[in-house]
Parts: sequence; C-alpha cells; structure tokens
Amino acid sequence: MKFGFDIDDTLIDLRGYAFQLYNQKLNQNVSLDVLQTINTLEIHKVFGLTGEEGGKLWNSLADEIYYSGCPIFEGALDMLQELDREGHEIFYITARKKEHSERTKQWLIKHGFPFREDHFYCGMKDQEKIEIILDLQLDYYFDDKPAVLETLLEIPTKVYAKDNPYNQKVKVPRLKDWSELKDILAQ
Ligand SMILES: [Mg+2]
Repeated sequence: MKFGFDIDDTLIDLRGYAFQLYNQKLNQNVSLDVLQTINTLEIHKVFGLTGEEGGKLWNSLADEIYYSGCPIFEGALDMLQELDREGHEIFYITARKKEHSERTKQWLIKHGFPFREDHFYCGMKDQEKIEIILDLQLDYYFDDKPAVLETLLEIPTKVYAKDNPYNQKVKVPRLKDWSELKDILAQ
C-alpha cells in the first residue's frame, strides 16, 4: 500500500520543540502544560508576542527548530521502518518551504526514515497537498493541520489526523500515538 505522511507535528514534535526554544530565546518560563491548552497551531500568543512578532521569531529560528534536536514522536520511526520492510511505499508531503527541501531530506535520511527521492514532496501550500495525494492514489495519509485536513474530507484516501489540541474540530479519524497504526491497519 501507499502511505503518505506530513512531517511537522505529525511525525516529529516540532511545535513542542519550538515551544522550548521560544522559552530559551525569550528568557521566559512558560510551562509545557500551557502548550496542551493552545488551540491554534501557532504558539506565539502565550509568549506575549503579536502574530507578526511570532512570525518573525519563527523564521529567525527555523533552521534551529527544524534541524538541531527536534524529537521524533514515539513509535513513528519504528512504524515507518516496519511499513517499509513490509514492502509498503512511504511518501512525505511537507509544506516546509522549498529552500528547506535538501536539508529536510538529509535530516530524514540521517535519522533512519525510509527515503526515496521520488517519494518526497516539499514546498506546496496547504490546498495543494490534496492534488499530490490524489495523483499518488495514496491508501493512507496522515497530517495534523486543520487547514489541510479540511481539504481531504471527501477523497478515497483514508485520512487520519495526528491528534492535537488544535485539530479537535476536524471530523476525521485520529491517532494519538503511532502505536495505534497497527490496530488501524488490522481493521
Ligand atoms: Mg504538520
């Protein structure tokens, strides 16, 4: 089968990692518990930043957020490696900007994610992911972002949300933990 994955906040805990970096850089000590209460993807507000300031900070830290030490969600890497071993195809579909394409590939390879050059899509807008997902005729696709998930409600691909406080309103099946994928596939 063909499996498609968003990367940020689906396979890796980018938002949680950025949250820690914001605390460090801004010399603040916002509790990690607060993160679970923020119902937007963006985290700047709890640090007292405007949207514009938040955007600037994110962009200035993007390299560090993406490539320094962002943790992979527990079980995600094992699960993808197992799917690969079983002969399934693994695709990555990320909205990271094109300029991050090469380093993101290298990051995936370095961390042991199954990787093929022609199975990697980077730099599309939220509304453009659906075209790739349909073109590839994916059997399964996983993402966290409401703006993306909402475009995927009516397609043949089985779409799952990686469960997060900010995507609760989207009416799609979800998984909290990557260990749940085995059960999903067994259904
Ligand atoms: Mg994401």
